[in-house]
Amino acid sequence: MTKHIFVTGGVVSSLGKGLTSASVGMLLERRGLRVKMQKLDPYINVDPGTMSPYQHGEVYVLDDGSETDLDLGHYERFTNGPLTRDSNYTTGQIYQTVIEKERRGEFLGQTVQVIPHITNEIKSVIKRLADSETDVVITEIGGTVGDIESLPFLEAIRQFSLDVGKGNCLYIHLTLVPYLKAAAELKTKPTQHSVGQLREIGIQPDVLVCRTERNISREQREKIALFCNVPLEAVIEEKDKDFSIYEVPLSLYEKGLDELIVQRLNLHAHSLELDDWRDLLHRLRNPQHEISIAMVGKYAKHKDAYKSIFESLDHAGMQHYSQVRVVSISSEQVEAEGPERLLSGYDGILVPGGFGERGIAGKIMAIQFARERQIPFLGICLGMQCAAIEIARNVVGLEGADSSEFNKDSPHPVICLLDEQKKITDKGGTMRLGAQTAQLLPDSIASRCYGASVISERHRHRYEFNNAYRAAFSERGVRFTGTSHGGTLVEVFELAGHPWFVAVQFHPEFRSQPTAPHPLFAGFVAAAIQRRTERTESVQEVES
Ligand code: GLN
Repeated sequence: MTKHIFVTGGVVSSLGKGLTSASVGMLLERRGLRVKMQKLDPYINVDPGTMSPYQHGEVYVLDDGSETDLDLGHYERFTNGPLTRDSNYTTGQIYQTVIEKERRGEFLGQTVQVIPHITNEIKSVIKRLADSETDVVITEIGGTVGDIESLPFLEAIRQFSLDVGKGNCLYIHLTLVPYLKAAAELKTKPTQHSVGQLREIGIQPDVLVCRTERNISREQREKIALFCNVPLEAVIEEKDKDFSIYEVPLSLYEKGLDELIVQRLNLHAHSLELDDWRDLLHRLRNPQHEISIAMVGKYAKHKDAYKSIFESLDHAGMQHYSQVRVVSISSEQVEAEGPERLLSGYDGILVPGGFGERGIAGKIMAIQFARERQIPFLGICLGMQCAAIEIARNVVGLEGADSSEFNKDSPHPVICLLDEQKKITDKGGTMRLGAQTAQLLPDSIASRCYGASVISERHRHRYEFNNAYRAAFSERGVRFTGTSHGGTLVEVFELAGHPWFVAVQFHPEFRSQPTAPHPLFAGFVAAAIQRRTERTESVQEVES
């Protein structure tokens, strides 16, 4: 019988429920259990695909093409259980399904209501993950307890334990224990209130994970236990990790969370092996090199907009015992101040994906700078398309070359819509989405990085490289080293005579794990380390 863990959050948002859920998943998986993870989001959008990254951070894409919440990125970085479109549901999707059923006449004669119709639908999407291949389903409820929009989800998970039996469910509530400077103490009252709210709805949490800046004393844990009606050993401290998010699973393990869960749910688990994970943190703490990467994107101040890219660079750094300092630079600022002033001194330049015309000129300037100065360059999706525009204008000599996303009347639309995309007018879920295979040319940077000739990578875009320009580009040193659909779509191009210039139409950042860094990020970081080393050596030569 599959067991269920529900993770809720209280007091404030941004407590790191996703990271905590992913860490729990990882600990259980490493104890030999088959885990599936799921996030239920209370907002009304059908998926986060149409939300601005300002609002919601990056849109994380799965193999099956679903556009999901960025917390699913944490799940995939920490665990190996397969994620599919069943791993992320929103209020919008739940209502859409119920309304479609109502229109089909499935509820004939009934008044369709939040309870039981919406709650039944929520329970059914949770049950969908429970099968004979799965020991534990971890369902994270987005939002904060007390929000109006979370209520149907909380009601559904309350009912769930009645349906499957109390002993088969475990409720973990994440709360905040803030430190008040003026009083010089940690305050437990917000936690008491938040658990109080859950209990009013009928949920008694089994475990409290308390986020805190400072150590919580035993007396304070006893107080929380007493007022919140949980045993002392189930009040787990989760102190802020200034150094790395990859410390979280280790610290939860040290506080005994995995053992507590295994006992409460009566799971058959073996002991835990974490040496490889400790080794990763050791590498992070003891780097042998330090490099700086400039990431030139639209959202310089919103780290969450490029979450998976930051993580992928960290993973590559761990592989090479290197500290990777990533500086987010707004492409509009590059346009205003020029690349020389802003980008000199970096060991690598990365231009990420994106939509819309704002900031494009600065991205193109950054790419020209990387190309001319021989700085390692990785262009991802829109970054690849901007590289094509830059090369078209400045190397191939195609004046006015552009993407038809930004200029419908360009004389040289080097990036354009495929015929099948031209007919589509809806915005949500209508791009080229999800995993697709590509062939790599032997003797290319890409095939050396991957050590393979066929790869599978995730996509999220509408526009493509325009094949009418392939010959002109090839004549000027562009190598189309990766293609898909029998060679018809450009997936990767590189530049002859440049040490490391790789532009990819897909999103490698959705495939990197700390224990398995993505080969392209690993190659990019290695090239940046090499450049740093060569520059240091040439400075030393000049000085001696
Ligand atoms: N806007 C571009 C397209 O739709 C690139 C998308 C992206 O970078 N994810 O093709």
